[in-house]
Amino acid sequence: METRLFIDGRYESASGDARFTDLEPATEATLAEVASADTRDVDRAVAAARRAADHGPWPRMSAEARGKILGRLADEIEKHARELGTLEARDVGKPISECVNHDIARGARNIRFFAALAETWTQEASFGAAKFLGADLRLANLTARAPLGVGAIIIPWNSPLMLGTWNLGPCLAAGNTCVLKPSELAPLTSIALGESANAAGLPPGVLNILPGLGAAGAALVGHPGVDGVAFTGGVATGRRVMAAAAESLKRVTLELGGKSPNLVFADADLKRSAAGVARSIFRSQGQSCVAGSRLLVERKIADDFIALVIAEIGQLRIGDPLDDKTDYGPLISAAHRERVDGFVSEARAAGAEVLGGMRGALPARGFYYPPIVLDRVRPESRAVCEEIFGPVLTVERFDHEDEAIALANAGRYGLAAYVWTMNGERALRVADRIRTGMVWVNSFFLRDLRTPFGGARQSGLGRQGGRHSLEFWTEAKLICMTYPEDNANG
Ligand code: NDP
Repeated sequence: METRLFIDGRYESASGDARFTDLEPATEATLAEVASADTRDVDRAVAAARRAADHGPWPRMSAEARGKILGRLADEIEKHARELGTLEARDVGKPISECVNHDIARGARNIRFFAALAETWTQEASFGAAKFLGADLRLANLTARAPLGVGAIIIPWNSPLMLGTWNLGPCLAAGNTCVLKPSELAPLTSIALGESANAAGLPPGVLNILPGLGAAGAALVGHPGVDGVAFTGGVATGRRVMAAAAESLKRVTLELGGKSPNLVFADADLKRSAAGVARSIFRSQGQSCVAGSRLLVERKIADDFIALVIAEIGQLRIGDPLDDKTDYGPLISAAHRERVDGFVSEARAAGAEVLGGMRGALPARGFYYPPIVLDRVRPESRAVCEEIFGPVLTVERFDHEDEAIALANAGRYGLAAYVWTMNGERALRVADRIRTGMVWVNSFFLRDLRTPFGGARQSGLGRQGGRHSLEFWTEAKLICMTYPEDNANG
């Protein structure tokens, strides 16, 4: 297992040989001692990325040539899917079936998708007319899309390989070079990407990987050699990233947290909706930015519906993330488990009812926390208003559509919403009025990579996906050519 920094195509120790300890959530044991980048390493990695951007072949290659190499990178990820999935499951605590079948598969697909999109992305041209120095001229305006240069990609711990490739796919496909900074809590599959990059033939310096603490991320954002920052993480950190990037007017995209509501109407297919709601919150133990952590349910069906959700919890197989049959693992850390429990204890003390109903007991070792439904919780409580990022579903009841929409729009987040109804007109009306970046109707988080992904309000800034990502990672450049209106030579 590689645990060092990856700079300019080589694995290296951190300056001063600094290391941090990476724990395995399911066992609480040390999984790895990982090299911890400091500002000197950030300087080295950015310098390597800068050299590759300014003097290397990568930005000057055809999109097709880059696509071939990126295709091989995707092949490498697929070839090692089981190993990478196992590493991700051990590092994050997510069930291996989810890691292999979803996250790692999506990792390869992210790379392939953006490489293909860059190949088929055509630029604009427009013709016009103007008078210049007494002559009537025709204008040919060409809009070129130049790579930005060096990208900094900072990701959280919950889905490292999927989120890393979601950003470095378009960054690299558009001809940029980059420095990837994974979270200290789960850096291992990101580090492993260096090996895949070399096997794929990615030129040195195009992809650099810096495991390290938050300070390394901050140094990267503030670095004068970085041209654009793609940040995925919490709102508070996102705010710091944006402020730091403002100093040098860097372009920033922010994929932040959420508190996404599930709106369940009495006319929904209740059994299917309950399964969907349970999946939206308990998948990845609720550690997902798009987790459907609030249940807004029509009062007349509320009790029956909650019973259906509890029955879904009863189906979850909790246990060792490395077991293919497990669908619910531990949380990322002891500190996070304590934080999640803090929300639950506070709500309980304020009169909330804690409902659960898992099959079997929690494993004795590991940062496990049970899936919980918090009923009778006050709408102004922290459990309802703040992102818990854990397996906790809060319940609020409504009597009519307007009230449901008002509840959904309360608070500062605006990432996603899920509407469960069999009435198509209602689905459209509600989706139209909800202030989130994404709305799914009668489904949870089905992805078409061409569509815009991102949050409204404090859930983010900018959009990723399809051409939105390629636009972020390129600078639109006008090249204006002129020619005379008349053919002077007859
Ligand atoms: P954090 O915001 O704590 O950290 C995210 C990344 O930023 C980590 O790599 C972290 O390093 C780094 N970092 C910390 N401080 C700074 C800084 N000042 N400047 C630059 N980088 C810094 O988030 P978590 O890792 O705890 O992840 C959970 C959050 O991520 C949740 O809010 C979740 O909703 C959000 N998220 C959003 C997604 C989206 O697409 N909208 C997708 C997935 C998660 P280190 O960990 O080493 O401190």
